[in-house]
Amino acid sequence: MIPGLEPVPLRELQALGTFRVWSVAGQLDEMPSLTPVRGTLRAEHRGNLLEVEGSVQTIVCLRCDRCLGHFNQQLSAVSKELIWLGQEPNEDHLAEAGLDLASPDGLMECLNPRGDFEPERWVFEQLSLQMSVVNRCGKHCPGMPQKPSDAFPTRGETTPDPRWQALKNLQSSMQRNGTNHD
Ligand SMILES: [Zn+2]
Repeated sequence: MIPGLEPVPLRELQALGTFRVWSVAGQLDEMPSLTPVRGTLRAEHRGNLLEVEGSVQTIVCLRCDRCLGHFNQQLSAVSKELIWLGQEPNEDHLAEAGLDLASPDGLMECLNPRGDFEPERWVFEQLSLQMSVVNRCGKHCPGMPQKPSDAFPTRGETTPDPRWQALKNLQSSMQRNGTNHD
């Protein structure tokens, strides 16, 4: 739990009449990191919307999917997001708020206006989005751990050289032609 990032009722943010700022410094329970998560975020209640923006960073220790070695990766997120307060936003609501469903902001999250905004959860989500699906330790990855039995190339079927095959075909056709003339 990051101190100071407790959930805050949206109504409290609304009553504030201005944005609220949090400074982030601590460990996320769901994402162990080598260094504390640091950054800031701010949220402003704008009637039907909550505008959240922030930047957070940390360093996590990951395991390479290929060589299975551990490596450190910096995660850094800078984002700005609009969260719809209420039911699924429809086009009328968005137009009223001066937004367009077709814009990138069109796909937005919803929160119950009587519920809470959870700053810590927001930080966790932003950092999670920075994690890659496949973990690679980098350019100098030594590759898969070696298995001695794989060191020898397997000997396949001996396939005839196509050039010899062409010569053979020519030879046999000449022989056939020869017998016709006899
Ligand atoms: Zn690796």
